[in-house]
Amino acid sequence: MPKIKSEKKTRVHGEVVKQGILFNKDFGQHILKNPLIITGMVEKAAILPTDTVLEIGPGTGNLTVKLLEKAKRVVACEVDTRLVGELQKRVCGTPYQSKLEIRVGDALKSELPFFNVCVANIPYQISSPLVFKLLLHRPFFRCAVLMFQREFALRLVAKPGDKLYCRLSVNTQLLARVDLLMKVGKNNFRPPPKVESNVVRIEPRNPPPPINFKEWDGLTRILFVRKNKTLSSIFRQTTVTATIEKNYRINASINNQTLPADFDIKLKITDILEREKITEMRARTMDVDDFIKLLHIFNVEGIHFA
Ligand code: SAH
Repeated sequence: MPKIKSEKKTRVHGEVVKQGILFNKDFGQHILKNPLIITGMVEKAAILPTDTVLEIGPGTGNLTVKLLEKAKRVVACEVDTRLVGELQKRVCGTPYQSKLEIRVGDALKSELPFFNVCVANIPYQISSPLVFKLLLHRPFFRCAVLMFQREFALRLVAKPGDKLYCRLSVNTQLLARVDLLMKVGKNNFRPPPKVESNVVRIEPRNPPPPINFKEWDGLTRILFVRKNKTLSSIFRQTTVTATIEKNYRINASINNQTLPADFDIKLKITDILEREKITEMRARTMDVDDFIKLLHIFNVEGIHFA
């Protein structure tokens, strides 16, 4: 990615900092100003002196400089060229300069570099795609310590039965262990965001569970449309069974099987659910293992979701 630096813009920026109107809402710019939160995040990441740390959205570098103290190298991805200039100035002529690589651009649109640990106070609007970009990144990283909007953080860690338990919870918990680390109030940021925040630790499961993620996604999408409904009532809906039937017929023809003229997918699914005694299960209270088991039961019977 090109490194762009605009002297003029940077000078303007210096002025607006003083006036306190620098920050661009479109980029979710809320600078962490409480040093205790910053050091707390760095400590929780347990960075080794041999580690390469990835930071998304370094902003003016409050967190970056603390990461540079601990890590061998920091790669920071920042979309706002004005802030890139600020950060470059901040490390220029210090021992940290050679340890810091700034990549200019949208972290979602570019390939992530190699890293061992990710620590970041991110713009909240990229939370969900960023989590999955990180979790699908290879080679595996050790852990990510990230700041999120509180509601998002609570959904990430929600357990079966919790009000906020949703597709985001199961998708994340399929691929990672997630823990809430700290509650962070709005006034720890400048300017303060409208929402409360939480720091979360994400540790990828390595190796990941051996499942087909497209199938997993297909099944969990169906079940979480109405997470309170029982399996038997979900699989009675024609909108749901029509796609499943189409997949089933395609698979049968690939395997040179002819289906009986009176073949009824709803009946087949009902039989399976009754045989397995899971007609009354519902997504709201199913954990990751329950979804994996259910997917397996269906797949064995030739029922596919992708
Ligand atoms: N980490 C800093 C700044 C947090 S504000 C601190 O805690 O003080 C969020 C930062 O992410 C801003 O610097 C913003 O410009 C940057 N940003 C926003 N969208 C981004 C994206 N898609 N890719 C990379 N950086 C982004």
